[in-house]
Amino acid sequence: MRKNIVAGNWKMNTTLAEGIVLANSLNDALTNKTVNCDVVIGVPFTHLASIAAAIDTTRIGVAAQNAANKEKGAFTGEVSAAMIASTGANYVILGHSERRTYYLETAATLKTKVEIALANQLTPIFCIGEVLDERQAGTHFEVVDAQIKESLFDLSVEDFSKLVLAYEPVWAIGTGKSATSDEAQEACAESKKLLGGMGAKSVVVLYGGSVKPDNAKELLSMDAIDGALVGGASLKADSFLQIYKSYAGI
Ligand code: PEP
Repeated sequence: MRKNIVAGNWKMNTTLAEGIVLANSLNDALTNKTVNCDVVIGVPFTHLASIAAAIDTTRIGVAAQNAANKEKGAFTGEVSAAMIASTGANYVILGHSERRTYYLETAATLKTKVEIALANQLTPIFCIGEVLDERQAGTHFEVVDAQIKESLFDLSVEDFSKLVLAYEPVWAIGTGKSATSDEAQEACAESKKLLGGMGAKSVVVLYGGSVKPDNAKELLSMDAIDGALVGGASLKADSFLQIYKSYAGI
């Protein structure tokens, strides 16, 4: 059965001490988790090793929020996929719109990052999504199709089975204005159709963009949506757990 996933993206928030407290609260609350839904937290690089050591990573996956597009070497300030994996983390968020916009990450760079992550046994959570102008112009499917094709065209069927895709319309991220459940469903279904045509039959597809406790249930009840990538609401244990619970139906 395909797994569902509720993943948090803490972005550049929390000190190490605050992050450990938040991770421990989630770990304690999820002791008896039995439903078919994985929980992942995307934490700052500085927190990876401490959080992976503090919690049960078979209960809560730990994700980095980026990784270098090089294996190793003279790239001052970069953090490699092998380094991330060596902390006990098991996922990496790649291609988040904030990385594409503020750090000018290109499709070609992201293609390399995905391949290096997979080679280091990290599950990439690969983010795609259109900006408001593209949505208003009705070109959103073309945009997300291109983002998928340009970075993922070379993956094998086996690689695809290890990948998670996150459809995150940029206009919905951090704005409080989520896509409607129909808009999110349509775009996730479109991504699955395209991936299916590329030989990937079972990619987990998440929706992200202002998911909150009060809209999670409806969004996550849609059949093309396998879970959520949650930013702001993942910074409080209560709201993140409510999203998980509304999804998991417990
Ligand atoms: C995100 O950062 O991926 C995100 C979806 O943020 P928010 O939930 O705050 O919109």
